[in-house]
Amino acid sequence: MQYDFFKSPILRVYTEIEDGYMRMKVSGAGSFLMRKSLEKNLSLFEGEKPVKTEADRLICSTWMPPVPSPGFDRLVKSQFFSFLGKMIPDQVTISITEECPNNCIHCALPDTKNRKKLAPETVKSIIDQVLEMGTTFVIFDGGEPLTYQGLEDLIRYVNPEKAITGLFTSGAGLTQERASSLKEAGLYSLTVSFDSAYEEKHDYVRGRKGVFKSAVEAVKNGVNAGLLVNIYVVLSRDNVNELDELYALASKLKVHELSFYEIVPTGRWMDHASEIMTPKDLRKFDNFVSRAREKEGPRVFPIPQVMKTTGCMAGRKWLHITPEGDILPCACIPIPYGNVHRDRIKDVWKKIREDPVYNAKCCLMRNPEFREKYLNLLE
Ligand code: SF4
Ligand code: SF4
Repeated sequence: MQYDFFKSPILRVYTEIEDGYMRMKVSGAGSFLMRKSLEKNLSLFEGEKPVKTEADRLICSTWMPPVPSPGFDRLVKSQFFSFLGKMIPDQVTISITEECPNNCIHCALPDTKNRKKLAPETVKSIIDQVLEMGTTFVIFDGGEPLTYQGLEDLIRYVNPEKAITGLFTSGAGLTQERASSLKEAGLYSLTVSFDSAYEEKHDYVRGRKGVFKSAVEAVKNGVNAGLLVNIYVVLSRDNVNELDELYALASKLKVHELSFYEIVPTGRWMDHASEIMTPKDLRKFDNFVSRAREKEGPRVFPIPQVMKTTGCMAGRKWLHITPEGDILPCACIPIPYGNVHRDRIKDVWKKIREDPVYNAKCCLMRNPEFREKYLNLLE
């Protein structure tokens, strides 16, 4: 089975599924010129399991529009623009509300207790603006976005010809009816956070009893409703020894993808810079990722490894809006470059792009120089 990533009279970039894995191919007269520039991007897919193969479309990841689709074409266009030095915020997270029943020890939101939320018309204006700029993935985040009245309307508002939609949730309140209602509104992927494969430990990190059970229910309900479901794990020194258990849980729950991020010292965890993962932890993770690739079960999306190829996405491919309307380079960098209540996102993006720091190879929030210079944090 072959799926075209890009097709023109002089260049074809496509993948062939061989024994369940993607094999990337380039052909046409232009391939000689383009092969070098494409190499890095294609290496992200080569030999990987896709999330789902259908007769007429391929879903490489819950984080990407299907191939082919108008949203995917826009993503390819954005990639070509980036070769020319023009960056587009492909992925925009909108933290629609601060409201959340949990109290996670690593929450990226500072403990403001002001319970701000963005009005629906503000969120719609954000959506209009970012789709105009070329965004292909709009993520509704929180707080707990399921507490937001009118979430389905916002999902419906995102033109599926331009972008896919995602929802990041702890799972609290995601009944079967709610999962079906989100699916009906056009939600593309549901991402449920897990900190541990064990109930007691997960509930401890989330600051409340019962969160693990809600997360498991949410995943089951999402899968039953026909949503693409992704389990999201923020890796830390505390759960890096649970990688196989987390994979077993994801397989048992029949999710489509299991994504890993690495803990970032920000929000409530801001002064924990000395507790980031050690090189030994990261080697453990690399080893797990290679083993998981060979296993029966969901695709693993190892964001820390992917970032070794792509670099840090903050202010380069990602943009974040807080419940106060502040515009940040990424959800973890608490530096407002503007506010949606008074600035045009396009202008703020331009301002961010003018700062060369947002072309970083590694996580800026884990970089002591950046923390000192931009946040006055001395470790
Ligand atoms: S990390 Fe998410 S679920 Fe946890 S307290 Fe913060 S907003 Fe709520
Ligand atoms: S600074 Fe970069 S790597 Fe770090 S959390 Fe933000 S986007 Fe991710």
